[in-house]
Amino acid sequence: MRRLRTTRTSLGLFGALLVMPTLVLGALYWRELVNDYEAQLESIPQAAQSAKDRIVASMVERFQKLLESEARRPFTHYGEIFSPEDAIGSDLALTESPLVSEERPREIEAWFSFEFDYGETEIHVLQGDAGKGENLARKENYLSSAIADFRKRYLGEGLYSRLTGLQGEKTTTYPLAAVAVFLGYKEQAQQTCLKACASKMEGHEVPVNVFDFELDFYLQDGKRPRAIASRRISFPIEDVPANVPCLASIEGEVFTIIQGFILQPEWLFNELPQLQARRVLAGAEELLTLGPSYEDATRSVATINLISELGFDTAEPEERWYRQLEVAVDREEIRRRFEKQSQRFLLVAFMLVLTLSTGMVFMYRSVSKELDHAHRMQNFVAAVTHELRTPISTIQLHAEMLLEGWTTDPEVVKTYHARILRETKRLSTLVERVLEKSRLKERTTDPVRANLSEILQELEHDLVGVEEGGPRDVRFELERDLPPAWLTPEAVVGIATNLVENARKYAPVPAGGEPICVRTRSREGHVYIEVADRGPGVPAGERDRIFEAFYRVGSEATRTTKGTGLGLHLVQLFAESVGAQAQYLPRDGGGSIFQVAFKTAG
Ligand code: ADP
Repeated sequence: MRRLRTTRTSLGLFGALLVMPTLVLGALYWRELVNDYEAQLESIPQAAQSAKDRIVASMVERFQKLLESEARRPFTHYGEIFSPEDAIGSDLALTESPLVSEERPREIEAWFSFEFDYGETEIHVLQGDAGKGENLARKENYLSSAIADFRKRYLGEGLYSRLTGLQGEKTTTYPLAAVAVFLGYKEQAQQTCLKACASKMEGHEVPVNVFDFELDFYLQDGKRPRAIASRRISFPIEDVPANVPCLASIEGEVFTIIQGFILQPEWLFNELPQLQARRVLAGAEELLTLGPSYEDATRSVATINLISELGFDTAEPEERWYRQLEVAVDREEIRRRFEKQSQRFLLVAFMLVLTLSTGMVFMYRSVSKELDHAHRMQNFVAAVTHELRTPISTIQLHAEMLLEGWTTDPEVVKTYHARILRETKRLSTLVERVLEKSRLKERTTDPVRANLSEILQELEHDLVGVEEGGPRDVRFELERDLPPAWLTPEAVVGIATNLVENARKYAPVPAGGEPICVRTRSREGHVYIEVADRGPGVPAGERDRIFEAFYRVGSEATRTTKGTGLGLHLVQLFAESVGAQAQYLPRDGGGSIFQVAFKTAG
């Protein structure tokens, strides 16, 4: 009962100190994991919105850079020939425009320039060095008609009114000669005249108003996307030197020029967003370019109106939605991450449970073992005390009787002496056994090659007890041709004596009953000694334990036989000291067989 309580207490302590905190911590961690996951799911729509803001900001920045770099271009470059402003001297230098000679950036399809007048003025289209190819004329025609269409919208669709509200007006001055070249470079006669009069124009300047680029987007003929940046330039020709005939036609005029460039739709609608998306989007965010898509359980979507975000004006409302983009945030990715984390958590939890339960089992076993050992020691002390008390009191009684001269009959005196001697022997055997146990535990002996039957033969006389004249309760059946085995005579004597003694004690042979049998035999690399009796045998549950030190079947309170629980333990220790093995076998027809197997010495 006490044992059970102690085991329960230790298991309880183990639970309170280790299992409980682990469970609580595990539960807390799990809750945090789930909360985290839910918070992430909730924040997905905001995540999509913030991804959209990032990508829009990035695109606008990139687009603004393009506009700024184009705004720095002098308006005189928008002609095939121009006169560099930094040309030194009074000669008029004429050179090809960079918009004709230089490589065209991928963002731009072509530059254009036309005079803003209600008439059909000439449209100049410049395509950089790409325009020098074979298709120059065809492409130029196509682009000219696109710009003509643009101009028509500019004039016809009320866009003219916009001119009054234009922004970012800046006034700069240009040399008169450069402006004159820009206005009339195509005509040979004009060029010749301008060159001749170059020195006269020196020092004369034209104040030029330059406005910011305006952005227009529309679908030409309802299908072709046109994204056009255009600016207005205006200047009066006032300060003109006298006697320059080629300037006479423009003197006093106020010119308004519309200049700008057509954006590459492929770059604007594809490359620009894709490139910026690659820069600013992260893991679960994705840019969708295939038009409006739906929002479902697996993703959240934020729409980008590229046209209006970049600052384009449109005439028709549907043009404003052209090629909408979307940023999607994948919920699945977050779910997958959560799943992975929870799997990892469960694995760790499983391992923890495994470790704790293993610890619990080990602890339970060790506590039980310790308690068992303590219990056996208690039994042992009780048994030894009992074993000691009986011979001591017998010796004391007989010695006193002799001393006090109770009897003078020599026969009785002899019996008394014999009893004292027997009890002394019993005491010394007991002491001897306890000593033997610790001796055998401490050191090993080297076995020798010897014949088991021969050693037992010599023992027969002592064990059978022929001399005492009692009934022969032990019979020897020794096999003659036994192979030699690894053993020591001391171990064999110890084993046989203890086993025979036990058999006599627990299975005493009744008159005319089957005697205890001590036999030897050999089989499969082993030589066996067996002591068999017809006693009560050992209950199945106890068979493994009877060889343990101080172990006795039943309890000290109820047991009737004398003993200390050392006999079989000594048998086992003797056996182990020579590498042999002792075991119990139930005997057919009732009784026990104690068997020790020695290894044959081949
Ligand atoms: P002890 O004899 O001092 O009690 P042992 O170690 O010799 O201790 O024996 C352990 C237990 O094994 C005994 O308590 C007894 O119950 C049982 N036992 C030993 N030999 C026999 C036997 N021949 N027949 C039945 N039980 C036996």
